[in-house]
Amino acid sequence: MVHSALTIYPYSLEKMYQIIHKCEKCGRENSFETALDDLTEIKCEYCNIVSTVIRPISGYIYILSNTCMPGMVKIGFTTRNVEERIKELNSASGVPNSFEIEAAFISNAPAKDETKIHTELSEVRVNEAREFFRIEPLIATNHISEIIGYEPTFSKFEPIFTTCLDKLL
Ligand SMILES: [Zn+2]
Repeated sequence: MVHSALTIYPYSLEKMYQIIHKCEKCGRENSFETALDDLTEIKCEYCNIVSTVIRPISGYIYILSNTCMPGMVKIGFTTRNVEERIKELNSASGVPNSFEIEAAFISNAPAKDETKIHTELSEVRVNEAREFFRIEPLIATNHISEIIGYEPTFSKFEPIFTTCLDKLL
């Protein structure tokens, strides 16, 4: 959406913010008023370059490992934070060792993203009814980055995003 100083918003003032943004390319300041709900990117009005992307978070896609299950990762989503989800999994019976986080991605459509990821990784899925995949955590991380189009918000690794991952699967 186009922001200008004269844009009138149907929001109460509590929801409004003035954003002052300095363009990395031309060094000029852009200033506008907005409701954060409406803001998805910040573009320099002088050079028309998007330098900041604002992504609402509805949940996270996570990759977890467990030393009891070597060579496998659990890939799922939560609409809460990842730590809470891990605590919940670790307190559930049946697994002697704790799940550990390998990587997490923010998502504004976590259920949809999860389905897409599970479909793409179906060849290495251990059991249709479970969320376990026979894939190295780093390869899973890079593959999910490619599927959803951005890098993880947390990762144990220094990711390599230039690799063609289809060849590795
Ligand atoms: Zn600029």
